[in-house]
Amino acid sequence: MTIDITEDLILQSLKSIIDPMSKQDIVSEGMVTGIHISGAKVQFTLEIHPNMPADKRGALERSSETVVGAIDGVNSVSVIMTAEKTKLVKGVSEVKHIIAVFSGKGGVGKSTTSTNLALAMRRLGLKIGIMDADVFGPSQPRMLGIKDKPDVSNSSVLPPLEGYGIKAMSIGFLVDEDKPVVWRGPMVMGAIKQLLEDVSWGELDVLVVDMPPGTGDAQLTLAQTVPLSGTVIVSTPQDIALIDARKGIKMFEKVNVPILGILENMSTFVCPNCEHESHIFGHDGARQEAEKLGVDFLGDIPLHIDIRTTSDEGLPIVVTKPESASAKAYMKLAQKVIDSLEKTSPQTPNIRIS
Ligand code: ADP
Repeated sequence: MTIDITEDLILQSLKSIIDPMSKQDIVSEGMVTGIHISGAKVQFTLEIHPNMPADKRGALERSSETVVGAIDGVNSVSVIMTAEKTKLVKGVSEVKHIIAVFSGKGGVGKSTTSTNLALAMRRLGLKIGIMDADVFGPSQPRMLGIKDKPDVSNSSVLPPLEGYGIKAMSIGFLVDEDKPVVWRGPMVMGAIKQLLEDVSWGELDVLVVDMPPGTGDAQLTLAQTVPLSGTVIVSTPQDIALIDARKGIKMFEKVNVPILGILENMSTFVCPNCEHESHIFGHDGARQEAEKLGVDFLGDIPLHIDIRTTSDEGLPIVVTKPESASAKAYMKLAQKVIDSLEKTSPQTPNIRIS
């Protein structure tokens, strides 16, 4: 007796396959669509996360093919893998691009870069949000001069705050900056998910994520929770910082996140008295590293006392001293990031600026 091949039968067999990104079965995750049965031939689509590594993608395709192929009466299975229609996480469903600002270690200027890059893109006319995921040292509230606390009266959504025309949400708004918090891996992952899912980010061109330093759970959680359009790697020119930057690039490549490029921060020291330039931490290390690794060089930001004082006082240089050479360097960076986003994610709505 032959059993009729039905959609239910196919879904039942596919339910045994686990999505390596969400760790749920692929049917419950709604990843199986477009089932088509024609005699003994079965075709279906698997909508996968765009950041799924190639080896996992291949393994998922093969195991789905095998379980459906094992159904009585099926003699041909074709699986179409697509990453285009991935369901977006609730809070960021109207965000066109999410980019991560990464550094291999703390203190290289990742948060300062995130703030000024976000504000520079805003000055170029884009709708911008900044998510401070640096659970170990949240600095966006201070850098953006935001003293208010988010309205937590509605337990299911958290409205972002606003500073200099950009939306902002930070772990720092939710915990007391002076009280130490011991963050364990699962807590970090939970916090990052919440900042993405439960914050009403609304319509944005770019959401800039200020990441915790290093290559760990936080970075992987971000890459596996939302489709990232790319990452900006911040490094100082010294070899030691560049080694960490390299590790970061390898990690993002593994999870299919495009590298928008490397930025050299604290590149040239400009004396505030005589404007004389010196290279305290060396110079051009990031440019050379970018060339070696075959990724774009996004430019350099000078080591200038005004960058430090303005960020520490909550008066970011891009908005408070827009004519300064430092602010102009951030504007150039912003344009490069936008150009790079257009290059790496051509399928997303056009955000070109005239
Ligand atoms: P990270 O996020 O990598 O830990 P921060 O952005 O907090 O680093 O920067 C560390 C310190 O260095 C801050 O006091 C900041 O103001 C300062 N800083 C960052 N970039 C520059 C720069 N280009 N010139 C001068 N000071 C800088």
